[in-house]
Amino acid sequence: MSSIVLGQTIWVVGLIVWFIIRYPHVRRARRTATLRREGTWRERLLLAIAFAGLFAIPAVSLATGRPRAFAYDPGYGCVVLGGALFALSLWLFRRSHKDLGRQWSAALEVRRDHQVVRNGVYRTIRHPMYASFWLWAAAQAFLLPNLMASLSGLVAVAILFFTRIGFEERMLIEAFGEDYRRYMQETKRIIPGIY
Ligand code: SAH
Repeated sequence: MSSIVLGQTIWVVGLIVWFIIRYPHVRRARRTATLRREGTWRERLLLAIAFAGLFAIPAVSLATGRPRAFAYDPGYGCVVLGGALFALSLWLFRRSHKDLGRQWSAALEVRRDHQVVRNGVYRTIRHPMYASFWLWAAAQAFLLPNLMASLSGLVAVAILFFTRIGFEERMLIEAFGEDYRRYMQETKRIIPGIY
């Protein structure tokens, strides 16, 4: 198998595993009552950007080979590194869904009986699910043989992360006060001990 086909295959398999991990949580979230929704239109736009950068643009590029001017062969080294990053991303994605449990929602929301989660992967970082998105975008950049597909993921995750993070932390401070502030002092955002 060529490195190009191998990288594309790993990306497709990773994506399928991602949907399988997420599906039961989407179903449960539909049944969980919401107390507060934050910036509905901004949130919809951010989710659409993430969908475009991590799925739609790379999928179209993979299916058509376009834009041809941006096509290249990542080589086996990059593909192996990309596969390892995608595996790490999926592990973190699964763990953070399990630890967040019924507090999870795709957009910014506070649930009825919402509690601050600070165990499991939330012990050291506050945003492990967003960390898993960064890892996915990095994996995609190593796996796919087109520069546009590689960059679209990183740009989309950067927009989602840097736009949302301030609103999310402010919302949780408003909802939980000292409890969340103390949690913020004990943890970093996405890189343990650093940021
Ligand atoms: N930013 C987190 C969670 C993403 S899911 C991460 O990257 O892992 C988004 C929802 O999670 C938000 O609507 C917010 O209400 C909730 N949330 C985020 N951090 C939380 C925490 N520590 N405890 C409980 N809920 C949290």
